[in-house]
Amino acid sequence: VAPPAADYLAGLNPEQRAAVETTEGPVLVLAGAGTGKTRVLTTRIAHILATRRAFPSQILAVTFTNKAAREMKTRIGHLVGGEVEGMPWLGTFHSIGVKILRRHAELVGLKSNFTILDTDDQIRLIKQLIQAENLDDKRWPARTFANLMDGWKNKGLTPDKIPEGDARAFAEGRGRTLYRAYQDRLVSLNAADFGDLLMHPIAIFRDHPDVLADYHRRFRYILVDEYQDTNVAQYLWLRLLAQHSPERAQNGQEGVNVCCVGDDDQSIYGWRGAEVDNILRFERDFPGATVIRLERNYRSTAHILGAAAGLISVNQDRLGKTLYTDLHDPEHEKVTVSAGWDSEEEARAIGEEIEQLQRKGAKLNDMAILVRASFQMREFEDRFVTLGLNYRVIGGPRFYERQEIRDALAYFRCVCQPADDLAFERIVNTPKRGLGDAAIRLLHDYARAKGLPLLAAAADLVGGDELKARPRAALAEVVRNFERWSGLLSTMRHTDLGEMILDESGYTEMWQADRSAEAPGRLENLKELIRSMDDYESLPGFLEHIALVMDTEQNAETDAVSIMTLHSAKGLEFETVFLPGWEEGLFPHQRSLDEGGRSGLEEERRLAYVGITRGKRRVKIWFVSNRRIHGMWQSTIPSRFLDELPEDHVDVLEPSTSYGGYGAGGMGGYGASRWDGNAFSTSSYGTPGWRRAQAAGGSGGYAGGRGRAIEYGEGGVSGSDARSRASA
Ligand code: ATP
Ligand code: MG
Repeated sequence: VAPPAADYLAGLNPEQRAAVETTEGPVLVLAGAGTGKTRVLTTRIAHILATRRAFPSQILAVTFTNKAAREMKTRIGHLVGGEVEGMPWLGTFHSIGVKILRRHAELVGLKSNFTILDTDDQIRLIKQLIQAENLDDKRWPARTFANLMDGWKNKGLTPDKIPEGDARAFAEGRGRTLYRAYQDRLVSLNAADFGDLLMHPIAIFRDHPDVLADYHRRFRYILVDEYQDTNVAQYLWLRLLAQHSPERAQNGQEGVNVCCVGDDDQSIYGWRGAEVDNILRFERDFPGATVIRLERNYRSTAHILGAAAGLISVNQDRLGKTLYTDLHDPEHEKVTVSAGWDSEEEARAIGEEIEQLQRKGAKLNDMAILVRASFQMREFEDRFVTLGLNYRVIGGPRFYERQEIRDALAYFRCVCQPADDLAFERIVNTPKRGLGDAAIRLLHDYARAKGLPLLAAAADLVGGDELKARPRAALAEVVRNFERWSGLLSTMRHTDLGEMILDESGYTEMWQADRSAEAPGRLENLKELIRSMDDYESLPGFLEHIALVMDTEQNAETDAVSIMTLHSAKGLEFETVFLPGWEEGLFPHQRSLDEGGRSGLEEERRLAYVGITRGKRRVKIWFVSNRRIHGMWQSTIPSRFLDELPEDHVDVLEPSTSYGGYGAGGMGGYGASRWDGNAFSTSSYGTPGWRRAQAAGGSGGYAGGRGRAIEYGEGGVSGSDARSRASA
C-alpha cells in the first residue's frame, strides 16, 4: 500500500510531482515562466530531506541570486515543518565557488583568507599592469581589458587557451601577457576576482582527481535553477561535479542525481556569456535523462500570459512550448499601454497610478517598476522622494559602493588581510597625513624590491632613514595602528573594533570636519555600516558577505515599491508590474540593434517576455516621445515590441488630462500633440495609440524614423552587469 502523500506534495500537479519524486538519475525540467520550476526545486529538496535520502550537507543547490537562496531555504523549512539545519551548499555559483576555493586555496597558490577583488580594485590593478608594460592606458583602457578578460573567464579560458585573435586585438598583441601578469599579480596579492571563483575550482577539479572524488562522494543530489542562463564556465564546473564516477557508484548511484530547471525563452544573459545551448546539451551529457515539461502557469492572468506568449512567438530561435492558465476572469485587466510626453511625465503618471492602487488597498510591496537600463531609475527615485512613496532599489547604486563605505571597508580589509595592497593604497593617505607622492613612490619601490606587501614594507621603512622625518612619523603611526587593530581582531567585538578603527584613524573626524552638504549623510552611512556589521559574527565574515552580496540589503519590513532592472527581476513575481521606456533604442536597446543580427534582438524580446511574465494581475507598459539622454533631449519612437503584442490582450489607454495638463488635448497626442494637437482628435480611436502616434509622426511629431540611433551609452548595461556579478 502506497503511503499517503506527504503534505508538501499535495498541491502539485502530476508533472510537478513527477519532477519532485524522480529523485534518482538526471532530470531536466524545461518549462515556461510561472509554471512552478522554482517551486519544484524547493519541494524536491524538501522531499529528499523528508524521506531521508540525504543530509542537508549532501545537497548542492544553485540559485541565481543570494536572495533566492535565502528564500529557498526558508521555504524548505516551511515544507518540512521546522528549521533546516545547515544546507551549506545552497547558493549562487559564485558563493559556492568561493567556499570550495577557500577549502583548497593552496592548490592554486592562494591562502584560504584570500580577498575577493571588486571591480574598482580590478580596474586599478589592470591599469598598473598596462602602465608597467609601457603602454598608453588611454589608448588601451583598463576597463576594456577587464571586459575582455571577463569574457574569457565566462568561457572558462585560461591565458594559454584564449583565441589568438582576441589576444592580438588588445594592447599591441600583449593580451595574453597581460592576462598572465594579472593572474600572477592576484596570487601575490592573495586575491581572486569574480571569474576566478569558478576558474580556480575548475582547475582544482581537473588537476586534483582526489579532491573531485571527495566532492563526488559528498554531493548526492545536485540541483540548478535558471539553468538557461549558465555560462560555459559554470557549465564546466557543474559538469565536473555532476560526472559519473566510481565514488558515485559506491554510493549506489546509477545515474547522477542532477536536476536542472530552466526556460529557453528567459535566457537573458547571452551578452555575458550565458549559453542557452547548455539546455540542449543536457540530454547528451546525461544520457537517459528524464525531461519534464510543465505547461500550467500559476502566476499570471490569461491576458498577461496571452500578451507574453504573443510577443515571444515572434522569436525564431526557440524550442517552443505551450502555456495555459486557469485564471480566466473577465474582470481581469488587459495589459495596458500608455504614452507620455517625456520620462518625467512617465514617472509622475506611474507615481499617481501607484498612489491610486494604494488608496484601493494595494500594498507597495506588491508593485515593481522594471527598467531596461539603470539610468531610468533616477527619475522614479526623484518622483517617489517628492511623493513620499517608499521605494527600494534592488541592485541599484549600492550602499556598499559609496565612497565613505569603500574607504571604511578598505581599513577593515587591511586589518583582516595585511597583504591587501589595494585596500592599503586606498587609505594610506586618507585622511591626509602628510604622505606625499614621493613618500608613496618610495614605499612602492621598496615593497617591489623586497617582494613585500605594502604594509610590511612600510613597517620596514619606518625603521630606516630613507624617508623624511614627517612622512616617516606619519607612516609609523599607520603601521602601529594596523598592528594594534589586527591584534584586537580576536578579542574585541567586531562592531566596537570597527568603530574604533574609524575613530582612531581619523577617518570619522575627516568627515566631521568636512563642510560639504554630503558630509552629514556620509557620517550617517558610516554609522549604518557599523550597525549592519552586527548581523555577522566576525569582521572577515562581514567582509566576505560584502564581497558577495550584490542585492542591496534593504529593510524587508517596510512596505515599498521595488525598482530594478529587467535583468535582476528574473524569477520574481509581483501583483502589479510597471514597464516604462518601451521605445526603440532603449528597448530594444540600441546595442542589440547595432549588432544587426537576429540574436541580440531576440534576447531583448526575451527580456520583454521576462518583464511581462513577472506580473500576476496587472502589467502596465509605458513609452514616451522624448527622453533626455546624458542631458540631451531626443525624440523617440515606440518600441517595435508594442506592435507585437496581440491586440486581444492589450488596452491602449487614453491618458487622463490629470497627468500632464497639456491643455484640451491632454496628452492624448502621446506627446505629439505638442506639435500637432489635431492629429489625434481627428484620428480614429480604433487604432492602437502607438500606431496613431507613429502616423502622426508624419505630421512632424516623430522626426526620426524607426531604427534611428539613439545613444544610451553603456551606463545602464554596465550597471546591470555589476549587479548581476554582485548578486552572484
Ligand atoms: P520563472 O520562470 O518566472 O522563474 P517558475 O517556473 O520558477 O517561474 P515559480 O516561481 O516556481 O515558477 O511559481 C510561480 C508561482 O506559481 C508561484 O507563486 C508559485 O507558488 C505558484 N505555483 C507553482 N506551482 C503551483 C501549484 N501546483 N499550485 C499552486 N501554486 C503554484
Ligand atoms: Mg523560477
